[in-house]
Amino acid sequence: MRYQSTRGNSPQQSFLEILLGGLAPDGGLYLPTEYPQISKEQLDSWRSLSYADLAYEVLSLYCDDIPENDLRALLRKTYTEQVYCNGRTQDNAKDITPLHWLGEEQGTRIGLLSLSNGPTLAFKDMAMQLLGNLFEYALKKKGQKLNILGATSGDTGSAAEYAMRGKEGVKVFMLSPRGKMSAFQSAQMYSLQDPNIFNLAVAGVFDDCQDIVKAVSNDHGFKANHQIGTVNSINWGRVVAQVVYYFQGYLLATKSSSEKVSFTVPSGNFGNICAGHIARMMGLPIEHLIAATNENDVLDEFFRTGVYRARKSAETLHTSSPSMDISKASNFERFVFDLMGQDGKATAGMFKQVDEAGGFDISKDAVFKEMAKYGFQSGRSTHENRLETLRDIDQRYGVMIDTHTADGVKVAREHLQAGIPMLVLETALPIKFEETIEIALGRPAECPVAFKDIKSLPQRVENIDADVNQVKNFITTHLN
Ligand SMILES: *Cc1c(COP(=O)(O)O)cnc(C)c1O
Repeated sequence: MRYQSTRGNSPQQSFLEILLGGLAPDGGLYLPTEYPQISKEQLDSWRSLSYADLAYEVLSLYCDDIPENDLRALLRKTYTEQVYCNGRTQDNAKDITPLHWLGEEQGTRIGLLSLSNGPTLAFKDMAMQLLGNLFEYALKKKGQKLNILGATSGDTGSAAEYAMRGKEGVKVFMLSPRGKMSAFQSAQMYSLQDPNIFNLAVAGVFDDCQDIVKAVSNDHGFKANHQIGTVNSINWGRVVAQVVYYFQGYLLATKSSSEKVSFTVPSGNFGNICAGHIARMMGLPIEHLIAATNENDVLDEFFRTGVYRARKSAETLHTSSPSMDISKASNFERFVFDLMGQDGKATAGMFKQVDEAGGFDISKDAVFKEMAKYGFQSGRSTHENRLETLRDIDQRYGVMIDTHTADGVKVAREHLQAGIPMLVLETALPIKFEETIEIALGRPAECPVAFKDIKSLPQRVENIDADVNQVKNFITTHLN
């Protein structure tokens, strides 16, 4: 399998060649040159597979430069019940991403696909845990080392740290805004004692952290001399790992491949739902892919109107589903490339317009009128909707969900179609956003047993100023 850039002006590469990098040299994102097609017979033959072996069937189509036995071993090591046992319920834990039917509404079965049973209780573990094992494998093969520099306001950073802890050849330097994360989230990150993980608590806000990462990444000399890398959401390995649970969700919800299902996906950077788009392009019988946004509704606006209008950081609202607070959706370019008939030049032009004019408008273009064939729909949810949905799901079904998943359920309910099961992707567990849960329900969020004492564990964190040189100095003195 070869990978091309969405801007059409970079050499094609193999999976292992793009795994450790970020953007393509022309500024685009990597996509495979074709989507492998899965027949209905093949799909039905996968019903009896474990999650790890299902992942092998899907990923072997994309990672054909990893020997079969190595890939299967990496997947079996990654997707185990021991790693994905942290969730709310232990039943069906062997499914790794169990499906919990809530009930029937308007003649449609509605269920939660639980993606949050991994070590940090959010769906990012699904891909990140695999990335940790893939990075270790690729670095060993190439005889290289990697220093991962990142900025986080919560979910990404902790998922990356739990994926990379103890991995040979990898160190993680993670910037977080001091005192700005929830007590649970800081405890999750700062309680890690692994010598290859460094938490840097920056005196500033998340944007300061991100600016420092950008400044270091733009210092090409520093970056090359110190093997600096990232694990951000545009990494192809992350996207493709997420394709697997759309197959798993489909197989758990159906009895035969003649049936269809729809998925609603709480969306921010378009990474999760992009994986759903790829699954659909491979032939998985998905009726609709519904993007649910919060008040930061860049994506909902696009799918409704054909106008893509990136927001400025100052226009990005801080909401009670904070992991979807984005101003532009970094993975969206992958879908636009397909929408434009995989025309790199056209895609490059549109994203040049995003940089220069803040967005683009295809509302009058034929491609927008034909967009229905990709199955996308969308909706948005506000703080009030979120609280109301949290309460309703708790009262009606006795299930406590998190704020992002609540946005998903709210929007899913607006798109139910009789006879087509609706699966809402559960992207985190409520304990991660306990402050809002308590406000909505008037009682504390459920806490999985393994996390009961997390806030009293000793913490390992370095305080640092919002200063690029201080961060660079820290990295050079703690390098791999
Ligand atoms: C990251 C995240 C999202 C958004 O996912 P994208 O891939 O950025 O669209 C939604 N919910 C939670 C809990 C997250 O951590």
